[in-house]
Amino acid sequence: MNAALLTNPATLRVDGKRLMDRLEAMARIGWNDGACCRLALTDEDRAGRDQLVAWMKAAGLAVSIDPVGNIFGLRAGTDPAAQPVMTGSHIDTVRTGGKYDGNLGVLGGLEVVQALDDAGIRTRRPLVVAAFSNEEGARFHPDILGSLVFAGGLTVQEAYDTVAIDGKRYGDELERIGYRGEAPVPAFRPSAYVELHIEQGPILDIEGITIGAVRDLQGISWQEVSIQGQSNHAGTTPMRLRRDAGYCAAAIGLELRAIAKETGYASLTEIRRQDEEWMRDAIRLVAEGKTRSVFTDANLGKTYGGRLTILETLGAAIQADEKTR
Ligand SMILES: [Zn+2]
Repeated sequence: MNAALLTNPATLRVDGKRLMDRLEAMARIGWNDGACCRLALTDEDRAGRDQLVAWMKAAGLAVSIDPVGNIFGLRAGTDPAAQPVMTGSHIDTVRTGGKYDGNLGVLGGLEVVQALDDAGIRTRRPLVVAAFSNEEGARFHPDILGSLVFAGGLTVQEAYDTVAIDGKRYGDELERIGYRGEAPVPAFRPSAYVELHIEQGPILDIEGITIGAVRDLQGISWQEVSIQGQSNHAGTTPMRLRRDAGYCAAAIGLELRAIAKETGYASLTEIRRQDEEWMRDAIRLVAEGKTRSVFTDANLGKTYGGRLTILETLGAAIQADEKTR
């Protein structure tokens, strides 16, 4: 053990070039037109996993894989009975992912382990570098599936029965790419978990701050709304007789934005047109032309602590509109 390094960790350095070279090499797997595409359990994801496992083994880590495809690389500690300290993230990406999202957490963890090796430092607790399966959820819902199973929020069977946007089953696709492992669930009970992640918003970058600590976690609520109005002659139908789906859509949009602003920094809202199948990861609103509303999730009212649900808001808007006719 290198006592000088332990007593003065400021002298301990990771190898930045080694880390960046690995991030670049990983990004080349599934690189397409300026973005990275390694959707969970695709051939590209398998290639990324194969590369990660090869690096973990070369670094002397004991690799294990659990039944939902989470990958763990263990570096033994001096006390084999101690619970490990875990770090990591994910290596799957969205359809147009960046080089660093998730990958920095996994490959950064690997780099830390190797920096400790280089410095001749052994830790009392084991260290585990983890890559959780299907974190992004761009192909299989729910997202954070691998870590959800690890934490006991979803069963392995429920994970297997999850169906992708392309119709494939999670269990079948996991088997196909060869990453259905046999490690127990959870494979480890970490004493602590730390994750390095690129900033997912613009704030640190705008304020010129290098690094920050996460204060809140996100909880996403997906809503799908269809509004059907009634088309009529534009120049001759008076306002009181119009059934404008676009108006309702705009009213909902304004209300969502007002809720987000009212509830402070922690709430965000986004409305997207559902132009493409893969744009399933947003609150989206589709205006189609008649007066029909479909909600896939009725919990929004709870989320906003007593505020009207969107359904109630929409109903109130329509009633108010009809009173003026
Ligand atoms: Zn991420």
